[in-house]
Amino acid sequence: MSDAFQNKNPIWYPFTQMKTAAPPIPIVRGEDAYLYDADGNRYLDAISSWWVNLHGHSHPHIAEKVSAQLKTLEHVIFAGFTHAGAEELSQRLLGHLPHQSHIFFSDNGSTAVEVALKMAIQYWYNQGKPKTKFVAFNHGYHGDTFGAMSVGHQGEFNKPFWPFLFEVLYIDPPVRGMEYHSQEQLRRLLANHDDIAAFIFEPLVQGVAGMVMHEPEGLTGLIDICHQYQILTIADEVMTGFGRTGKWFASDYLDPNPSIMCFSKGLTGGTMAMAATTCDDSIYDAFYSDDKMKTLFHGHSFTANPVACAASLASLDLLEQEECWNRIRQIETQQAEFANHIKSHPNVKSVRHLGVIFALEFQSPEETSYFNPLRDRLYQYFLKAGFLLRPLGNIIYILPPYCTTPEQLKRIHEVIVSALDTLDKL
Ligand SMILES: *Cc1c(COP(=O)(O)O)cnc(C)c1O
Repeated sequence: MSDAFQNKNPIWYPFTQMKTAAPPIPIVRGEDAYLYDADGNRYLDAISSWWVNLHGHSHPHIAEKVSAQLKTLEHVIFAGFTHAGAEELSQRLLGHLPHQSHIFFSDNGSTAVEVALKMAIQYWYNQGKPKTKFVAFNHGYHGDTFGAMSVGHQGEFNKPFWPFLFEVLYIDPPVRGMEYHSQEQLRRLLANHDDIAAFIFEPLVQGVAGMVMHEPEGLTGLIDICHQYQILTIADEVMTGFGRTGKWFASDYLDPNPSIMCFSKGLTGGTMAMAATTCDDSIYDAFYSDDKMKTLFHGHSFTANPVACAASLASLDLLEQEECWNRIRQIETQQAEFANHIKSHPNVKSVRHLGVIFALEFQSPEETSYFNPLRDRLYQYFLKAGFLLRPLGNIIYILPPYCTTPEQLKRIHEVIVSALDTLDKL
């Protein structure tokens, strides 16, 4: 397809420079871990289609539940009205969450974060003690809306918008060896600012940063400090939720637990857009009042859409089965073995893994960045070989759906090894 065609393309794709990007691949069908294109080629989806898919594409159980829901109630306004799907989903989701007692629905990861930020700010406002600043991790990612951009890494991607992003104080994530440094940074900030509303973080794995990982002890230490200074904690579990880290939620590794949590991506099993922000009683109580001005004035047209609730419930059905956790543990073991096997490869700078997530940083003369030139060549190399792997700069990661078989995962590992072996020639 020529430049001219792309120039006329009515669709403006996300994160895509339309002039230089290769034409998108038309996908006609998905089944299990495979995507099939219009020419009959298949691609093993090793990144769960941008981290959303849990059980494989077009899963029959989810399809059946969604289809039945569509024939009963497709949508209803969620203010002044409710429906069984939302009620059941709240019960079941909260049942799996540590110390969360209330749930607020929205549409995607960014809105889940916006809601969390608004809850935190208004929590203080409603009590007559306004606090307006946030603490966040360096190189964090929380979405692309303005609030979410503000608390994320303020870098090249959002440079045009810097003047519009609100003030955030950053600390380094407590990666191995940096735990004490990170805690001291937080302690200093909290001692010197009495207007900090909350600390927001991606628990244990910073996805967009390149699957950068830290240990639960390091993060627990930070949450402890927040408790000492009585500021709120927000766990953005949009990527880490629903089994990715080997437990239901990354926050299950933490004690004490966060006050607010954000979910999206895997919530519907990756079927459709849906998000939830949950909180504990202390947050909810600050809004629960005879005073109308203490209301959380936030909502979206499709809040708690019944079809999205049906997809989420169907995904929970599958997640609640022992078989799903056997698969997660199988993937976890195999990723750990691969990490151990590949770490001394001459082209590998570092490896890390947690739960089903595996990441490898390859040696590169250019600095580690999303714009690393090898990134596009690697992406095309994997596609040609029939694998959907989308490196983040010089970091190759695997985040597979749980239906991925040991044989399929082995082939993903093999194609990565072959890319590493031939890196200079790619
Ligand atoms: C993807 C992601 C988001 C944003 O979710 P969208 O649905 O893309 O808006 C927020 N936080 C984290 C940790 C994410 O990985």
